[in-house]
Amino acid sequence: MDDREKDRNEERDRGNEASEETAVLDAEKEKHEAGTSDREADHKDDEYEKICYVCRRPESKAGPMITMPGGMNFCHDCMQKAFDTVTQSGLDLSQLQNMPYMNMNLSDFSNLQNLNTEIPKKNKVKKKSQDKEAKKEFSIKDIPAPHVIKSKLDQYVIGQEQAKKVIAVAVYNHYKRAFCQTSGQEGAEDDVQIEKSNILMIGPTGSGKTYLVKTLARLLDVPLAIADATTLTEAGYIGDDIESVISKLLAAADNDVERAEKGIIFIDEIDKIAKKKNTTSRDVSGESVQQELLKLLEGSQVEVPVGSNQKNALTPMTTVDTNNILFICGGAFPDLENIIKERLNQSSSMGFASELKGKYDEDPKLLSYTAEDLRKFGMIPEFLGRLPIMVTLQALTKDLMIRILTEPKNAILRQYEKLLAMDEVKLVFEDDALEWIAEEALKKETGARALRAIIENFMQDIMYEIPKDPNIGSVVITRAYLEKSGGPMIEMRG
Ligand code: ADP
Repeated sequence: MDDREKDRNEERDRGNEASEETAVLDAEKEKHEAGTSDREADHKDDEYEKICYVCRRPESKAGPMITMPGGMNFCHDCMQKAFDTVTQSGLDLSQLQNMPYMNMNLSDFSNLQNLNTEIPKKNKVKKKSQDKEAKKEFSIKDIPAPHVIKSKLDQYVIGQEQAKKVIAVAVYNHYKRAFCQTSGQEGAEDDVQIEKSNILMIGPTGSGKTYLVKTLARLLDVPLAIADATTLTEAGYIGDDIESVISKLLAAADNDVERAEKGIIFIDEIDKIAKKKNTTSRDVSGESVQQELLKLLEGSQVEVPVGSNQKNALTPMTTVDTNNILFICGGAFPDLENIIKERLNQSSSMGFASELKGKYDEDPKLLSYTAEDLRKFGMIPEFLGRLPIMVTLQALTKDLMIRILTEPKNAILRQYEKLLAMDEVKLVFEDDALEWIAEEALKKETGARALRAIIENFMQDIMYEIPKDPNIGSVVITRAYLEKSGGPMIEMRG
């Protein structure tokens, strides 16, 4: 009886051991698998810099990191500081276990895995590419010539010939300058230093300022950040800091500092940061913003938060050199006309010459502005001095509006034609109808932006009704239909 019981116990023990063994094997297998996936993840993370968990500086600034279990990284400085604090305060590490709340098992760091110590990728900076081969040599041949830039812009932006020309040349020169600096050619034989050619773009709303810059950045394949000057305020006040503009560019460049440093920043609504007139309080969103923008426009090393537009202790920081960043500032400057008229009329307000007064209203082309007019508007001279290239975009005329409807590569009408072509229906707009759309858009005074809304309005019905009848072969939009005095001309198939 005793022997049998003994045997049974031994068998049970063996069974337990076996199952324990398989459990251990399973656990090891899991660990192994987790290890490989960790390694894969590590490999993916290789292109990002490690960031110190305490001071939030990236590897490129703080030096090599000490990686702790749980994926936390510490720079040597912070590690040293931690040790110094501990030794100076006379802390006896051997007593750590006996302290209240400190009785954790220091040899087992595995529970740190559960802590969320991982810094998100959007806060990490990409490593500088060491591989010279992979790094495409930036050569002067890569910069398209001004006429090539302009002809590419022509495919998208209608009219604004002068503006396109000036911008094409400015951009060409800007990247030539950047090339000189990166290839170290500057100052080798001569001391000629090419100055930065930032651009000030003045034109009424909807005349294509933003569109022009967007198209330009896409054609040149450089990162672009579009910022709104109205949200900017002096550092320390509610609103976005000036550096947030650079943060945006860094994000557009995928946190690649080198790429961001060759990008374009478009600051829209620049007229809204004009110096406030007759104000006694501190002008935190006007003159101060202009003052703070000076250093960015000129070219300086800017410390910016990565992956956020707010600086705080937890956001990693990096340094971006704005020297080769092209700044384009755009604004409508609505009252500028009156300032120019005032200046022109000053000399002709009395005597015989006073009859000239009304002539500027008839021909807006006479109203060419000067830097002096912009200064009167409220822009400070230092700011204007850093935007040496001034471009004017004309208000869109009826003819230009019609061309915008049909000519660009992704013209609105082409988009509708494509949509209906999918139903095998041909869409045609009569010339009269196009004129009506342009006239209506002009009435809205929001430039080309109004076109889409107007078309959207009447195309709703067409897009709803046409697919109902599969026999419809083509639709002609007539002026009468748009004026609501008739219907579209519909032709059946066959
Ligand atoms: P703003 O001058 O106020 O920045 P936008 O550039 O945003 O105006 O223009 C609004 C829209 O109008 C653009 O998205 C574009 O589709 C159209 N548009 C404006 N001007 C032109 C133009 N000259 N050629 C083609 N499209 C234009």
